[in-house]
Amino acid sequence: MIERAELVSTGAELLSGRSVNTHARLLGERLRAVGIELVRDTTVPDGLAVIRDAVAAALQRVELVFVSGGLGPTVDDLTRDALAELLGCGIVTDAAALAEMTERMERAGRVMNAARRRQALVVEGAEVLLNRVGAAPGQRLTTADGKTVFLLPGPPNEFRYILGEYIEPWLRREQAGAGALRERLLLTQGIGESDIVQRFELAGFPPDGVMTAYCAGAGRVEVRLEPAGPEVADAVLDAAAEEAARLLVPYVYARERVALEDVIGRLLAERGQTLATAESCTGGMIGARLTAVPGSSVYYWGGVVAYADAVKAALLGVDEAVLRQEGAVSEPVAAQMADGVRQRLGADYGVSVTGIAGPGGGSAEKPVGLVYVGVADAAGVQVERFVYPGDRESIREATSRAALALLYRRLVS
Ligand code: ATP
Ligand code: MG
Repeated sequence: MIERAELVSTGAELLSGRSVNTHARLLGERLRAVGIELVRDTTVPDGLAVIRDAVAAALQRVELVFVSGGLGPTVDDLTRDALAELLGCGIVTDAAALAEMTERMERAGRVMNAARRRQALVVEGAEVLLNRVGAAPGQRLTTADGKTVFLLPGPPNEFRYILGEYIEPWLRREQAGAGALRERLLLTQGIGESDIVQRFELAGFPPDGVMTAYCAGAGRVEVRLEPAGPEVADAVLDAAAEEAARLLVPYVYARERVALEDVIGRLLAERGQTLATAESCTGGMIGARLTAVPGSSVYYWGGVVAYADAVKAALLGVDEAVLRQEGAVSEPVAAQMADGVRQRLGADYGVSVTGIAGPGGGSAEKPVGLVYVGVADAAGVQVERFVYPGDRESIREATSRAALALLYRRLVS
């Protein structure tokens, strides 16, 4: 049974800020499902010696190592050379990989050349994992002392394919009976980490045998409950999760890793209800998030980006006198925007935001970061006021999340 694994990510672009390393996240998540913890991700530039040494170091610590990137045809693709050197084997052309690549190239009307042929090179003795969505295949290598190294291509779609098509089935066989690492999740929105901890401490939570872990980011906090040891029963974890959810009402929006807009979409679709948005300082970000969810046309009618006061008045019916007296960034304007868009688009819910994203435009009375978010339904309108720190982008982000959080709370209240 394998318990721990490491990843070696190769590629100078991952260190220079040109690419974000998304492989560690995907791999970590998939490994947890088969009871393996990804304990380290070492990112190295494209160099034979650094790759070789990073893999050698990882093999000192764990029995399963993944290496991503550097399998392509260019001179900076050195992963297979590094592994051949480390394992003391040669490099050979894999006939099956070459045939598969040649055939796909012919179908695409391209010809095989020496550079492309290099992608069929593998470490001698490797099990070759044919790449049907790209060129260079993945490889499974076994070290002299029985440890496993998987080589995966760097392009994310190819990495995902090799992982899902070959490696996960292999892992499931190897880990038969291991089960996923046990955890219970609570996803919260609209409450900070320290407030969560405060609520837990006051209630004497967690109970014995349960450990808490937090992951905060993008306006949400993920609370993870884990057993302190194998002797802790599932029922203890389940009970702890129920208690945590009670302590965090109304901020828990899911028990699995999903986005708030997905949960909102599910709720609206289930109930056959609809939504419209009126956005000022977020300029359509809320609409973009809502429509990123497949099937959102069922419940999302659309929105008005009402940036100018004239648009707030003409398209949403906001009272011009109120705009003049209270200013566009005010509670009554947020309320009228939410109700206006709800009525004019004929939706069950209207969501609105109006605020000062900065860096200019603030005053002592209305500072940069001041925002109002509103939600309207047939029963009335609810508006919340926030003052967010940060730059323009983070204020806009926070505002769009706050609007969705307010809508969510309205939907479940
Ligand atoms: P290719 O045949 O395309 O050269 P390769 O196996 O040699 O594939 P790389 O050259 O290292 O892989 O990377 C190819 C692409 O994949 C690059 O655009 C790179 O930014 C991206 N990539 C590599 N590693 C990662 C990673 N860990 N996370 C996200 N993207 C990555
Ligand atoms: Mg490459």
